[in-house]
Formats: sequence, C-alpha cells, structure tokens
Amino acid sequence: YGLINSVESAGASVTGALSGVFSEPALRLGVTGLSGAGKTVFITSLVANLLDRGRMGRMQAVAGGHVEAAFLQPQPDDTLPRFDYEKHLAALTGPAPFWPEGTRHISQLRLSFRVRPAGILAGIRGSRIQHIDIIDYPGEWLLDLVLLDKSHAQWSTETLARMQNRPYAAEFLTRLAATGPTAPHDEATALALTDSFTTYLHAARANGLPDITPGRLLLPGELAGSPVLTFIPMAGTGGRGSLGREMARRFDAYKAQVVRPFFRNHFARIDRQVVLADVLGAIHAGPEAVDRLGQTLSELLSAFRPGRNAFLLRLLGSKRVERILFAATKADHLHHSQHPRLSAITTALLRQSRDRAEFAGARTKALSIAALRTTVEEQHDRNGQMLDCVRGKLLDSGKQAAFHAGDLPADPMQIIGQSGHDTQRWLNGDYRIMQFAPAALTRAPGDGLPHIRMDSAAEFLIGDLLT
Ligand code: GDP
Repeated sequence: YGLINSVESAGASVTGALSGVFSEPALRLGVTGLSGAGKTVFITSLVANLLDRGRMGRMQAVAGGHVEAAFLQPQPDDTLPRFDYEKHLAALTGPAPFWPEGTRHISQLRLSFRVRPAGILAGIRGSRIQHIDIIDYPGEWLLDLVLLDKSHAQWSTETLARMQNRPYAAEFLTRLAATGPTAPHDEATALALTDSFTTYLHAARANGLPDITPGRLLLPGELAGSPVLTFIPMAGTGGRGSLGREMARRFDAYKAQVVRPFFRNHFARIDRQVVLADVLGAIHAGPEAVDRLGQTLSELLSAFRPGRNAFLLRLLGSKRVERILFAATKADHLHHSQHPRLSAITTALLRQSRDRAEFAGARTKALSIAALRTTVEEQHDRNGQMLDCVRGKLLDSGKQAAFHAGDLPADPMQIIGQSGHDTQRWLNGDYRIMQFAPAALTRAPGDGLPHIRMDSAAEFLIGDLLT
C-alpha cells in the first residue's frame, strides 16, 4: 500500500487507474445545511477524528480494530475544488485558534480506509480499501429545487406576495415599484435591483425563513455578477427588449444552466447525507424561528424524497439516498445534563419534517453533536443553587467565562409547534453572549479533535462500511 500512500501528490489519474484495477468501493457522503450551520467545522473534525481515531470509540469498526489505516487521497472529480482540510485544521489547532471561513461553494475530499474484515473472512480475504468521498455544499443550493417546477411568473407572484408583510423587503419593493416589467431592459437597473433583492434575501435567511430562492444569490460561487445571477421577481411581463421579458429569460437560464446541472452532476450521485442545523440558535431566537427551521428542514428533506419532482424522478431513476443524519450542531454550549433534551427536540423536529415532507425510504437519525468542543463543564453556586455550567473563551474579549444557558423543557412539544402562541421562551438568558472561540489544544499524536458524539454520527453514516 506504499503506492497508494505515495500517490497523494501525484494527481488524480493515478488513483483513478488504481481504484479501477482493484475496483475499490467509493461512497459519496453529502454534507449540507444553511450557511453558519457548521459544515466546515464538521467536515474538518470528522476527517481529523477519522484519521486519528483516538476519540472515536463509539464506532464499532474502531473499537473492534477493523480500521488498519486511514489516509487522504486525490479526489475523483477533477473539476471540483478540493475541501481545504489542511487550512481549516490549521485554523482550529494553531497556537491562536480561530474559526475557519464557512462553506461558500461545493467542494470535495476523498478519505480512504484500509479495512480488515471481521471474523473468519479476515483470514480468507485480507484487507480491502474503502473510499469515502465527502461532498460539502450549501443547503441554499438544495432549496432551489422548488424552482424547477415553476415559471418566472409563478415564482414572482408567490415571492412578491410573501414579501408584502416583511418589513425588510420594503426597500426592494419601493425600487421595484419605480420601474415596471415593460420598461426597456438596461443592465445597470437589473444589477441594482438584484443587489437590493439580494440584501432582502440575506435578511430573510437571518430571520430563519425557508423561502430564500434563488440560493445562488446568497452563495454565488464563481457566478457572482453574471447575467444568469442578475434577475429578480417581477409581476407581469413586457414585450421584446423589456425588463420583464429579460428577467423571465434569465430565470429560465438559471434553472437550466445552474440548478439542473448541480442536481444532475452532484446531488444525484450522493449515497448518504448529513444535514446540519443550528437548532440551539433557533431555540434561543424563539418559537417562530424553531417553526421556520422545521419548515426549512422539510424543504431540505423533500429534495431526498423520491418522486417529489418530475425532473429528479427522471434523473435518479431507482437510485435513492440510503441514509440521512439530521444533526443539531454546537451542543457544547450546553452542559451534558441538558443533552438528552436537546436530542429529543432534534428528533421531534426530524419526525415533524418527515411527516410534512411525506418522507419515506432512507434511514434517518437525529443527533445533537459538537464537531469541535470549545467548553469544559463546571458547577457554580448561584444563590445557593448549584447550576450546571459550561466554561469557554469568549470570542470578543478572549476572557474565560462560565454560563448556564437555561434549561430546555423535558417535553419537546413545548418548543415545537408553539409559533404564534404566547409561550415561554427558552435559552433566553446567557445564550446571547455565549460566542466561544476554539480552545487552544495540546494534542498528542492520534488524539483527533475534542468533540461531542462525532463518533455516533460517523457510526450511523459510514460505520457499516468499515467492518
Ligand atoms: P458553514 O457555513 O456551514 O460552513 O459553518 P461553519 O462550519 O463555518 O460554522 C459556523 C460557525 O459556527 C463557526 O464559525 C463557529 O462559530 C460555530 N461552530 C461550528 N461548529 C461548532 C462547534 O462544534 N462548537 C461551537 N461552539 N461552535 C461551532
């Protein structure tokens, strides 16, 4: 296997040929979630911990000693950016650790394992190679699936109707009212309107709303500023050369040249998927935000539902995503005594979203995790009562501080489905100021990164392939 190790810098073609010769199986693992959900930190931690395996005891393959080696190799897709693992790891583990920049576009990383089969097979078969191709992509791009069924006129009517009662849409709506679809098309006007619409989309995402199409306006990748990303919703249309006609044409071009290729070239090839979400952030923001997170999750899940969309049905044929993990990230903000409740809430959110999306087929699981644990647990006396706290280094001041974010309810339904009711707010105490920096680490070889339940996540996602 010296050869396999040494091809690391030799280019993908060598590995391609090599995996062809031995027909080594490769599994494509998608990682998604909206911006800020924790994709970059998750992948960095997953890879570091699978390479080292010192903290992955809940994986049967690790506990049973089946993984002989794990190593990074050139990825199979020559035209995709590589996930910049080394840079992100260096950010998290340097002498003054900091959070890496989050996911802005799709990227890929191939992690390969040398696996010794269990039992008598070990003697007969010897070890084998299993590749895991990790695909990181913005959840915003997945939400674009709804556009495929719609014309520009339908999308515009729905979008503009929803914008009417959102205060942060006022600026765009005023600008839009000043021009009309029959006005002659002019690129400067189109760009200015798109800019204003993009500002609105950012505000809508910050408010947790699931209807934030087109996703590429939020995360344009290399398409920023191009005509295919310069369009807006407009009621009505005009004749040849009008703004309305041009916006409709670009909407169709966006679907044909951006959305469909993404689903065809990347999404359709995913075998297993993890969807990350900042559930704690939503709980802190209140019942409306939790409700919106549930709607967003339903939208994301329905992309994986067979038959949801004629285009997807044609594209996928009988291929299905086998497993989907829904993970609530950043659980290190809470003392472990609260984790069962967070997990119960996450499970209930998943169940609700499955029902809404009428989802069936893939195995699903919900977990609360921390890809990188930034806190330690302590108990503090407050007015004679012992409180379970977490302590970490604050991002702003660099000072150590201990917090009790508040208690979560034992019954998840006290949080879910409470939108519009005048109910109790949860985590509305210290949570707002709990912005922790990554803790400085003293790492021994083989240590991996400190985490919460990343081994359970990995067990569900790929554990069966490594024994
Ligand atoms: P992405 O946009 O989905 O790639 O999100 P990132 O991976 O960049 O994470 C966004 C931010 O969430 C990070 O900059 C951190 O501030 C925070 N974060 C992510 N994972 C963790 C975690 O495990 N623990 C804590 N405390 N914060 C996290």
